Amino acid sequence: MTPAPQPGGGPRFDLPDVDEFTRPYWDAAAEGRLLLRHCAACDRTHHYPREFCPYCWADGDTVRWQEAEGPATLYTWSVVHRNDLPPFGGRVPYVAAVVDLAEGPRMMTEVIDCAEADLRIGMPLTVAFRPETGGLSVPVFRPRAA
Ligand SMILES: [Zn+2]
Repeated sequence: MTPAPQPGGGPRFDLPDVDEFTRPYWDAAAEGRLLLRHCAACDRTHHYPREFCPYCWADGDTVRWQEAEGPATLYTWSVVHRNDLPPFGGRVPYVAAVVDLAEGPRMMTEVIDCAEADLRIGMPLTVAFRPETGGLSVPVFRPRAA
């Protein structure tokens, strides 16, 4: 995968290469909606998006986009204090996290708007979207009232 070009600078390692399959995901994210993939054959939801179901291998129209409701809980995290890759170096410290979505999938993301001392395993979170260059938005999570 080739990193997306950064205007006036080097490569960006945080932005996706959007293709025909992932276009609906990124278009929805730009509108503030998180899409997951749901399999009608086994009634399970997965993330990251795949054209086939990673549980029962169904594909085609059996696996479709499904909008996430937004709630999640914090599974684990790490506070990153040093990252030499642009643009992460300008964001430190930040909270790299894995969250459990209400629909079931576990997702790598970032927790924002939460002091390091307030992070707790299982704490309720809700999805938010961080605008990036090129009309892209990236899903992140922030604390939610229980
Ligand atoms: Zn399935």
